[in-house]
Amino acid sequence: MRFYSTKNKNSTVDLRTAVLQSLPPDNGLYMPETIPELSDAFLKNIQNLSFQEIAIEISNFYLSEDFNQDEIEQLIRHAINFPAPLFSLSEQLHVLELWHGPSLAFKDFGARFMAAVMSRLVEGSDQKLTILVATSGDTGGAVAAGFLRVDNVDVIILYPSGKVSPLQEKQLTTLGQNITALEVAGTFDDCQALVKEAFLDNEVNQRYMLSSANSINITRLIPQSFYYFEAYKQLKDRSGDLVFSIPSGNFGNLTAGLLAKKMGLPVHQFIAATNVNDVVPEYLDKGEYLPRPSVATISNAMDVGAPSNFRRMEDLYGHLWKDMKQDITGYAYNDVQTRSAIKEIKEQYDYVMDPHGAVGFLAARAYQEWHPEANVIIMETAHPAKFLPVMEPILGEIPVPERLSILSKREKMAHSIGIGYGEFKEWLLGR
Ligand SMILES: *Cc1c(COP(=O)(O)O)cnc(C)c1O
Repeated sequence: MRFYSTKNKNSTVDLRTAVLQSLPPDNGLYMPETIPELSDAFLKNIQNLSFQEIAIEISNFYLSEDFNQDEIEQLIRHAINFPAPLFSLSEQLHVLELWHGPSLAFKDFGARFMAAVMSRLVEGSDQKLTILVATSGDTGGAVAAGFLRVDNVDVIILYPSGKVSPLQEKQLTTLGQNITALEVAGTFDDCQALVKEAFLDNEVNQRYMLSSANSINITRLIPQSFYYFEAYKQLKDRSGDLVFSIPSGNFGNLTAGLLAKKMGLPVHQFIAATNVNDVVPEYLDKGEYLPRPSVATISNAMDVGAPSNFRRMEDLYGHLWKDMKQDITGYAYNDVQTRSAIKEIKEQYDYVMDPHGAVGFLAARAYQEWHPEANVIIMETAHPAKFLPVMEPILGEIPVPERLSILSKREKMAHSIGIGYGEFKEWLLGR
């Protein structure tokens, strides 16, 4: 498989380049040159396939030029080693739980697949790969867990001081080994700016082979299409219009859904559910794309003012607003609405949903008012216990899975830096 830049379809690169370089030099985003179409037989037979078999089938299209069948199977069995169960709230409203991985957020799918692909690509090389990643909370934990103890790879995570939840911070700062955390006295945008500047700095690039683990990397997107098929497989009744409600920030998750549809999954509609950072719902409504600085909310992983995957969405629709609007409906909600949704979901369905999933729930319900026949699947993107300071004032004490609770006893290790690039660079070059 070859990959083109959204800024120039005519020059393509191989998987290795797309993965290790992350961003094309022209500042576009890599996209697969062809999107595989799965056979009718595959969909008809899907309930006889395991989640891993589905993932292998899809991966073959993207990876088979660079890896043999055995390697692909091993890679998937290692990376996708946890389930994505579908829980039905009612006959036509379902929740796909994407938090069963090590960091309890859906980003484990992308991070673990990317780690598995990258580590195999640098295997045997004498240079170390250094991954720089800025996180608003969940990405860092997933990337840290995905790359822990991977040979030839070092990970440096930049996170905004005081702006990630206490347990999220523990996920970033307690692993040690090849994972280093930098606590930045600034916002997520400041962290991202530092990472960007390092990528453009010749001196830093001479010293390090740098790569990114943010959702601009195409290997984070590919595995996220697997669970759309896995969700479809688990539906008892597949006759209604299939609709996915996706709590969105950088829109990687939704873009992966668009790929799944192109691969042949019969999706009737995607719902772009956001908090007040509603650049994409606004675009769908008015046809104007106006990125702006992000606003802090209780669904913090979606506090994105300039969604990085929007260019991929445009690319998939040939820049035709009307076509995108036909497939995607946008809804946005504020924190007051989100808090009352969390309460309502508990009261009505006895289900505990995290603040991100709750935004998806509100959008799903609004859509169903107009489309009562729709079979809606809400993507529950993280476990609620990752957000105790938000959840507990609403619901009281909630159960914390052991793999999260053990973290509170571990010791935080982080290096503090300011938002100036000079200090970051000095630290990088002095390591
Ligand atoms: C990252 C994240 C999102 C947003 O996903 P995108 O792919 O960036 O749109 C939503 N919910 C949670 C819990 C996340 O961690």
